[in-house]
Amino acid sequence: MIRYPRHLTFELTAKCNFRCPYCYCVWHEFPALGRPELDVGGWLRILDKCAADGVKDILFTGGETLLRKDLVEIVDAARTRLPDATFSLFTNASRLTASLIDSFKERRVSLATSLQGLRTYGEMTGTRRKFNRLLSVLATASEHEWPMAVSMTITKANCDEAADMFVAAALSGASRIQMGAMMAEGRGREHLDLMLTREEWERVKASIRELPDAHVPYSFCEEFICACRTQPEDFLRKWSDPHHKPCPAGRDFGVVGPNGKFRACLHTVEEIT
Ligand code: SF4
Repeated sequence: MIRYPRHLTFELTAKCNFRCPYCYCVWHEFPALGRPELDVGGWLRILDKCAADGVKDILFTGGETLLRKDLVEIVDAARTRLPDATFSLFTNASRLTASLIDSFKERRVSLATSLQGLRTYGEMTGTRRKFNRLLSVLATASEHEWPMAVSMTITKANCDEAADMFVAAALSGASRIQMGAMMAEGRGREHLDLMLTREEWERVKASIRELPDAHVPYSFCEEFICACRTQPEDFLRKWSDPHHKPCPAGRDFGVVGPNGKFRACLHTVEEIT
């Protein structure tokens, strides 16, 4: 049986109440990887193995984590088994409330979310929602002294407002910002027309670097395609990273999918036993 690496991501559910066109979750291409969804007992067994293997940090993600009614039970079980581990939780924040923020703060679980757009928020989430609520959740988290990290996926639709998105997240209290171009993975493979070229991505990065210093740490993610997956020739031609270094996926970090099976990373599709 595989020994878990020190850094793990738990994909707690494949369900989501958003339909982001760029969502890279693997089950959009390979539905079997998202089911059957493990029940709480299954996650407790995974957590026992985490304790035995010396896992040091866990990112809880999905799908949308807050759709799981037993989320707090799983987090508490994780804390009991791994008292010194670092935990973080990714959510689209649609169901995140002030009292939930306090409860995650009490449990030492850092929070992260996405800002998908401003004018384009509805289009980029596949919903009729507006961005205002997300910014208000960021401000609440900051007021409760548990500020959230924010990630942004840049596409052809929202690239013109990327700098405004950055400023909005920073002014609303984001603790840090990660920005990346949409990847040709998951549901993104049905929306390749939204992919940026490398030149467009460089222009987005330049527009962020030109902003006045907002005193919020930020980073860029350079992956357009997963280098660990076998990729079509035209994808490699258009989107491979010229500076790609060998990837430590599966050794330094890994993913436990909604069905409890281990994969090397969020984008790889082989299950490892
Ligand atoms: S990117 Fe996140 S919020 Fe959007 S559909 Fe995928 S899991 Fe849901």
